[in-house]
Amino acid sequence: MSNQNINVHDFQFKLICEYFSAAERQGPGSPETTIKAAGFIDNLNSGSKIADLGCGTGGQTMTLAQHVPGEITGIDLFPDFIDLFNKNAVNWGLDKRVKGITGSMDDLPFKDEELDLIWSEGAIYNIGFERGLNEWRRYLKKGGYIAVSEASWFTTERPAEIETFWLDAYNQIDTIPNKVLQMQAAGYVPVATFVIPENCWTDHFYTPQIEAQKNFLAKYSGNKTAEDLISYLKLEAELYGKYKEYYGYVFYIGKRI
Ligand code: SAH
Repeated sequence: MSNQNINVHDFQFKLICEYFSAAERQGPGSPETTIKAAGFIDNLNSGSKIADLGCGTGGQTMTLAQHVPGEITGIDLFPDFIDLFNKNAVNWGLDKRVKGITGSMDDLPFKDEELDLIWSEGAIYNIGFERGLNEWRRYLKKGGYIAVSEASWFTTERPAEIETFWLDAYNQIDTIPNKVLQMQAAGYVPVATFVIPENCWTDHFYTPQIEAQKNFLAKYSGNKTAEDLISYLKLEAELYGKYKEYYGYVFYIGKRI
């Protein structure tokens, strides 16, 4: 890879970070959904250890921390997100038990059987659902929980346009029963699954982006990387409106055997 490519890549990376840093969340979800998923976790106390993988700026982490006891470590690849995460923890008065560190979900800094709960909203796709479930299991105590949200098909067949879009974006998107089988095969009891409601995509994710996109395009007017990024995000939102009965995010909650 030439230096020029590295710089272009760096620049794209910075732009994506900047764009999403302004948002409360970096993926579809809502406080109500986080609280609902947390309702299935019954093994926690003030000494519990929890990890939120691909935590972003921590929207869901702060909600989780307000509803479950224990210490939470947020991990994200983007240092800028982690800076904001730690500022959020201070603002919410949660910084004594909620800490963010920069790191990768494929190289976690935990010991075997150290964690009581692994949380990951809209982020496991970065290493893939099956790989994440299999690799992260060792860090959980026996009886510990995993709770992840993941893009899933609602039907066994769907229109070609949306199938092609998703297979290009994330080819491990699959039906809910297939994901549940994968969870079981990875060594968990599938405790619960539920489809996250439509407002997690609209009110909490795409709608706030409309204003953010205008400001971003004004700031980076004429910049092709910025324009391409916004075009892609607009297409994604448009396709969601058109095909939302065929796919969405689903919470999968499992208990380590
Ligand atoms: N959980 C947050 C963010 C979801 S977006 C929310 O629901 O709002 C996906 C996040 O995964 C981004 O913050 C991105 O920076 C992070 N990410 C991407 N690859 C990663 C990796 N290898 N390890 C850790 N985090 C990663």
